[in-house]
Amino acid sequence: MELFDVYPLYDITPESALGSWITDAKGDRYLDLYGGHAVISIGHTHPHYVDRITTQLQKIAFYSNSVQNPLQREMAHALGALSGCETYQLFLCNSGAEANENALKLASFHTGKKRVIAFKNSFHGRTSAAVAATDNPSIIAPLNAGHDITFLSLNDSEKLENELKKGDVCAVILEGIQGVGGLDMAHPDFYHHASNLCKTFGAVLIADEVQCGYGRSGKFFAFQHTGAEPGIISIAKGMGNGFPIGGILVHPDLKASHGLLGTTFGGNHLACAAALAVIEVIQAEGLMAYAAKMESYFRERAALIPQLVQVKGQGLMLGLEFPFEVAQLRKRLIFEHRIFTGSAKNKNLLRILPALNVKPEELDLLFEALKSELK
Ligand code: PLP
Repeated sequence: MELFDVYPLYDITPESALGSWITDAKGDRYLDLYGGHAVISIGHTHPHYVDRITTQLQKIAFYSNSVQNPLQREMAHALGALSGCETYQLFLCNSGAEANENALKLASFHTGKKRVIAFKNSFHGRTSAAVAATDNPSIIAPLNAGHDITFLSLNDSEKLENELKKGDVCAVILEGIQGVGGLDMAHPDFYHHASNLCKTFGAVLIADEVQCGYGRSGKFFAFQHTGAEPGIISIAKGMGNGFPIGGILVHPDLKASHGLLGTTFGGNHLACAAALAVIEVIQAEGLMAYAAKMESYFRERAALIPQLVQVKGQGLMLGLEFPFEVAQLRKRLIFEHRIFTGSAKNKNLLRILPALNVKPEELDLLFEALKSELK
């Protein structure tokens, strides 16, 4: 059987990894400043992470959600304490798209409405409602196109208010820092206003923190820079440091009932062990404050690149915007300098999403490579 060929692949075969470094099948080492799309939060094969998962695997890896699993409650308490969202309730699933799908569904159950407001350049995943709320018609199949979605320009409070006033909106879904779209940010005043408008007009604000959450912005959640109070917060990516896990944090105003949501694999023992290890490391190593510190370091170094248009993003969710398309530069960074970076919908943007414990001297390697490429 052949693979269903949906991914253009670089001819690199990672075999092992440690911290911010990946070693391929030929023994070549690569600096990972992309974390496989913002997934690697605490560094590859962190010893505490490996230990937690290994110990759990030797006990029990999985059982269904029809019996007690104390690791889920432990996870909820740890996540509540670290994020400051203790009053929210946790539902666990397996990916970012699934988190947003559940968030949208729950908002619709809660309000009895079905129209969704999403924003231009958004990305929320590839499942039915999540992809319909994603601003990329090329990945929306006719099956998905039946959802009732209105796309607005980011940071346009007036248009948002006009739409919410119509009274038929169940959810406003918002990335605090757009990932795939290219690091545009919801202005803090806009985010806060959107939160108040949702309360006034009976809609649920969904903070899509799948990429910008989990400490990446310098606070646990990107919305925490804004004073907003979301109804639902969706999480995945950095949550498991590579182990597939996602979830939604649900505001106490939204009530649970048996059968409302469900999943076979979500919140299994092994996934909880991985997610607990990530939380423990973020806490023990002070990685939120460290990410904020590394942003300043990154910006200082970036300011020395004369060709640069701007640095976008926050914390360790950053983009370097150039006045030219960066596809070739990105390729040269990989093949000549052995540094992984990311691309975005904005073709002039190099995305930098390192592990939250990346070292300054590792970031220096990027700037040295850029200097030699751009001279
Ligand atoms: N939401 C955001 C903001 C994302 O960046 C992504 C993935 O890139 C998703 C949702 C979907 O996550 P997943 O690929 O885990 O389904």
